[in-house]
Amino acid sequence: QSALSLKFIGGFLDKRAPPSLGVPEVAFLGRSNVGKSSLLNKLVSKAGGDSARVGKTPGATASVNLYALLGQPKRMGKNALPGGEAKPMLGFVDLPGFGYAKLSKDTKESVELAAERYLGKRRELALGVLLVDSRRVPNPDDRAVLAALFDMGVPLIVVATKSDKLKASEIESAMATIRDGLGLPDGQPLRVSGVTGENTKDLWRIILDACEQ
Ligand code: GDP
Repeated sequence: QSALSLKFIGGFLDKRAPPSLGVPEVAFLGRSNVGKSSLLNKLVSKAGGDSARVGKTPGATASVNLYALLGQPKRMGKNALPGGEAKPMLGFVDLPGFGYAKLSKDTKESVELAAERYLGKRRELALGVLLVDSRRVPNPDDRAVLAALFDMGVPLIVVATKSDKLKASEIESAMATIRDGLGLPDGQPLRVSGVTGENTKDLWRIILDACEQ
């Protein structure tokens, strides 16, 4: 049995705040198809967890989707501790389409209200992870999302997804394009792949560091 698992807690809209799990949370943002669920699944499986199937969960369509990363208390040899119920160790929040979604006016208001409330007010929020495609040139939507997160004071790392689709000779210029296009500091974006797991170790270190602050 896996030591870690990811449990969908719920999707939240409007003014309904997600319940507190009593642990820090990491929020994932980016346009749809950028590789958000693949990366999240890879992070969990690399940490020894079972396949999370984020994004395929029924009900996970609302703007703020909260998942609990559950860990089993340590087992002592062959003897499972009695009452060994898995406890939340970290919250993962999926904000599908924040700043990107093409939604009807009503839905957009409700979804964006929930996302903005979450990003601006959530005490548990330790880190935002903004995903951009490694092969794309940043556009005004990307810059607007980044500026909004900055204004809300969200601690942020930008990651470039699907790095396995780049040839070795293309990597440097693709990362420079994203860095310049978004005005990022040296060292960002961190290129990652939900397929090969490239740099998921580094991303875990950044996540855990942020959660300890
Ligand atoms: P989401 O909508 O942001 O959650 O994106 P998904 O994780 O569902 O991925 C969208 C598509 O891109 C799927 O067809 C994935 O198989 C593919 N994909 C996601 N991450 C990667 C990656 O790191 N490398 C490659 N080659 N394909 C990926």
